[in-house]
Amino acid sequence: MPSATNADLFAAAHAVIPGGVDSPVRAFGSVGGTPAFITSAHGARVTDAEGREYVDLVGSWGPALLGHAHSEVVAAVQAAAARGLSFGAPTAAETELAEAVRRRVPPVERLRLVSTGTEATMTAVRLARGATGRDLVVKFAGCYHGHSDGLLSAAGSGVATGGLPGSAGVPEAVAAQTLVLPYNDVDALEACFAARGEEIAAVITEPAPANMGVVPPAPGFNVAIRRVTAEHGALMIADEVLSGFRVGPAGFWGLEAVDGWEAEVVDPGARTQPSPSWPGGPDGNDANWRERAAWVPDLFTFGKVIGGGIPLAAVGGRADVMELLAPLGPVYQAGTLSGNPLATAAGLATLALADDGVYSTVAHRAREIGAIVGAALEDEGVPHRVQYSGSLFSIMFGPAAAAEGVRDYDAARAQETWRFAPFFHAFLDAGVALPPSVFEAWFVSAAHGDAEVERIAAAAPAAARAAASA
Ligand code: PMP
Repeated sequence: MPSATNADLFAAAHAVIPGGVDSPVRAFGSVGGTPAFITSAHGARVTDAEGREYVDLVGSWGPALLGHAHSEVVAAVQAAAARGLSFGAPTAAETELAEAVRRRVPPVERLRLVSTGTEATMTAVRLARGATGRDLVVKFAGCYHGHSDGLLSAAGSGVATGGLPGSAGVPEAVAAQTLVLPYNDVDALEACFAARGEEIAAVITEPAPANMGVVPPAPGFNVAIRRVTAEHGALMIADEVLSGFRVGPAGFWGLEAVDGWEAEVVDPGARTQPSPSWPGGPDGNDANWRERAAWVPDLFTFGKVIGGGIPLAAVGGRADVMELLAPLGPVYQAGTLSGNPLATAAGLATLALADDGVYSTVAHRAREIGAIVGAALEDEGVPHRVQYSGSLFSIMFGPAAAAEGVRDYDAARAQETWRFAPFFHAFLDAGVALPPSVFEAWFVSAAHGDAEVERIAAAAPAAARAAASA
């Protein structure tokens, strides 16, 4: 018998860890109850301290593209660990990982590895400021770019779940350097640049936002960001920490800018997306990518999948901008554990395994699960919409979402959020772990098979009834 319950462990954690968690999104803040303390995870399943096994749709918030504890990834990490945990000196694996990223995302001419997505976006913003000599940064409401001071205004993810405008502890003078615009609103973007374009260093965006729930970019929105920033000498930063190497071999950039995926918020079921691909597969390289791509950001940030479950993230992009980084240039950035050998081993093994088959499996399973859950809600008369950006999806509740789709943060917040907690708990009781907030994407892995889909299908009717009676 397990010795401690989740409740025991949560109580003990509260005595030494603020809120009992090391990241607020884990705390069940908006859904209530006690988070499951996980003891192990394999494939598409996680097991908690009480011995209960769940079909996992959290996927460690993104990294677990292949499923948990993939044997080849674990073996690569074990082999790396046996050679030493951290050297504070360069390793060949860092170069190999940068090369692997550049093969998949050729605009990434140079790449620097860091340990978290927060560091990656913070560095990207500093680089943009260093490159342009300007201070202001534009972000979109509902997008989340990590927890650095300047990027918490109107942030998604845990900031949205907590209903917070931003964070205490951020000096007003710092917050004032960030201009927040509504997502998917080209007019607002143009007006902002018309007024202050000469002061703006960069626009940072999630090219497929997934931290206010999944809100697909309107067709042409990423192109408009590219056009407006270029017109005003500002940089475009594509934050693909969440979407990178998850929605396709070249991230959302590959899917939309190269493959021509078009978001369809109004009738997502009606359109079949092209399967994500990159010419020649992930290891190919297409000399014509620049002509083919509808938009090319100056800088990208990556995290999650790139580290295969071990802390690793990256900032990359144009060589001339990236080479402003120390030691070559005047923009300082550093990290004791950057490019850590365990993390690079996990990242390399994960990217090597993440082939076209993995991406089409994940895309197919995401559609399947979204359709099953959507049908169950339909049967119970719960107004909703399942929104997709490639294999990322989430459910928006309420008649407005059902009728018009959710295109920005205001609409995401205006949905019938209260339906989510009972829906979530009904799934959890039936052994299906969803991300514990309506503002988070659901993460599917290549290890989600028929048995997992059947468990979700079996759980969906009761969850839909719970949402209906909320
Ligand atoms: N950017 C995006 C788009 C993210 O989704 C996240 C994390 N969910 C981050 C940045 C921050 O990454 P980290 O939590 O590794 O700091």
